[in-house]
Amino acid sequence: MARLTGYLSRHGGLHPQEAAGLRKAASLLLDQHSRAETSRVINAQGYRTTHGNEWAPEVLVRVLGNPRMAGLDDDGEPIEGFGETVLSPDEFRRLLVLFAEQVEQQPPAREAFEYLLTEGLSECDLCDWNMVGTRVSSGGAPAYRCPPPRAGQPSCGRVRINADRLEDSVAEEVLAELLRPGAQERLARLLADLRDESVRLKAHVEGAEQRFAELREMRTVLVPSAYEAAEKATRQDMRDARNRLRYLEQLVDVPVEGVTDLVAWWNSAPRKWQRALVGVVIVKVRVLASGRGRHRDPSARLRIEWR
Ligand SMILES: [Zn+2]
Repeated sequence: MARLTGYLSRHGGLHPQEAAGLRKAASLLLDQHSRAETSRVINAQGYRTTHGNEWAPEVLVRVLGNPRMAGLDDDGEPIEGFGETVLSPDEFRRLLVLFAEQVEQQPPAREAFEYLLTEGLSECDLCDWNMVGTRVSSGGAPAYRCPPPRAGQPSCGRVRINADRLEDSVAEEVLAELLRPGAQERLARLLADLRDESVRLKAHVEGAEQRFAELREMRTVLVPSAYEAAEKATRQDMRDARNRLRYLEQLVDVPVEGVTDLVAWWNSAPRKWQRALVGVVIVKVRVLASGRGRHRDPSARLRIEWR
């Protein structure tokens, strides 16, 4: 076992230089400096770990949280004959209280939730704004909501739906649609159409330089405001084309053609393929305001616009 920073051996014997760094760190922390700030300060002053490394905040907290810092055993009892200690038992206990408080103050870790129907795949029925993924509180279940209105964004903020309810319903309807007779052929056709569209868009994007050049040639014959308007429109068109192309490229490679057990495929597919398949068969889902009671069938709140 490695030697504990601040001591010459496991059985004590102060390492004066390392002990000085740890005492400095303890007093900074007890003085309400952050762990990161404290690490920076003692690193800048040349203090290092037993391995000669700079202090990382987690390592610092782990070392300072060791009862040996105050010559105590794991039960908090003084170790006989330990000798001089890095911290006094009182300092050590105050540090432990501080660390415990910091743990409590940390927001609970949010598990990442990959939404199925964000980025334009779902929209608010009241205001046509795209729904966004949200959580009401850090502990709340993932949900979709119409974003609250703000300057330049006339969304209504009034529609909200639990993510599981929305996504399960949509997945169910999409799979049901794809299990109907002839669905494989329809799916293949949709994919072919989307591939054609992405080829056309790609050519359009690649022709941008040419179009800008032609526009510049017209600069002398256009009044400045007309030129600016034309340039702005061309730029916007390029942005839209690039976004659409990026979106299409995510869809067209979905490895679903020829799959015989679509439900099994869905259940084991990574989120990005599920998103892609949904994007291939639907344009978007409109989410209706709830209104009449909480326990209605969630599919009653959806209007799927099929491709
Ligand atoms: Zn809305």
